[in-house]
Amino acid sequence: MREYIIQMLKNESIELCCVLPLSATRITKPYLLERCGISSGSAICFAIPYYTEPDGTSNISAYARAEDYHAYTRELGERLCSHLQQKYPQNRFALFSDHSPIDERHAAASAGLGVIGRHGMLITERYSSYVFLGELITDADLGGEPVQITYCEGCGACVKACPYKLDGSGCLSALTQKKGELTPDEVALMRKYGSAWGCDICSEVCPHTARARKNGTLTSPIPFFNKNLISHLTVDTVTSMDDTTFARRAYSWRSRETIIRNLKLMS
Ligand code: SF4
Ligand code: SF4
Repeated sequence: MREYIIQMLKNESIELCCVLPLSATRITKPYLLERCGISSGSAICFAIPYYTEPDGTSNISAYARAEDYHAYTRELGERLCSHLQQKYPQNRFALFSDHSPIDERHAAASAGLGVIGRHGMLITERYSSYVFLGELITDADLGGEPVQITYCEGCGACVKACPYKLDGSGCLSALTQKKGELTPDEVALMRKYGSAWGCDICSEVCPHTARARKNGTLTSPIPFFNKNLISHLTVDTVTSMDDTTFARRAYSWRSRETIIRNLKLMS
């Protein structure tokens, strides 16, 4: 089953995957496991590459250029789990990403998918930190051994470039998602960095990103992340989207007003 699942992921262009016993992960939301009737077993941890080079200048984060990745992971989960359920009817399967029963970054690093960067994200050799993390969890025992978690070389480029110097006092990405009134300082910060949604500064200055770009591996091979791309938003682009189109975008969850407010601040 282990090799079969790994091959299924590879067929989806998800090459970075590794198996861990569930007992080697940090279970942070046990109710999500209880809901699918799994108390022990294995986690097949994987990294989903999502980066695409912008078409011209971009004023939104790389993860928001394609449609919302939650739609991708939901469809991936349905596809893989329904197939596995048919092939292995005696076992249970569930796929998680973002809203997960386990600490995803800890599990991915323990599975050996990459190192933990000073900017707080998992860094993979092939795609740098431009990956979403996911896990296929099953009650089957698929073996696997955790490895020692390792950290980046700590060059400090991300600390230097971060608008908040990574001191824990804030994050531009969170600021672009804030609803309601912004303070004059917050407005000035958003204008200075020119982002209407998200922030990729710490990923962009990281030498791992430069290496992956130079090696030609940074871009996602997954079709979902290479279609329906919008790199540069304007107020007109957002207001002319119908509700269904807008709902498929990552910035929709904070309402149309929030992204339009941000775009007006940039103009
Ligand atoms: S920029 Fe340097 S310190 Fe920051 S995550 Fe990358 S390697 Fe680590
Ligand atoms: S996303 Fe931007 S603001 Fe947030 S930690 Fe990274 S560089 Fe700093």
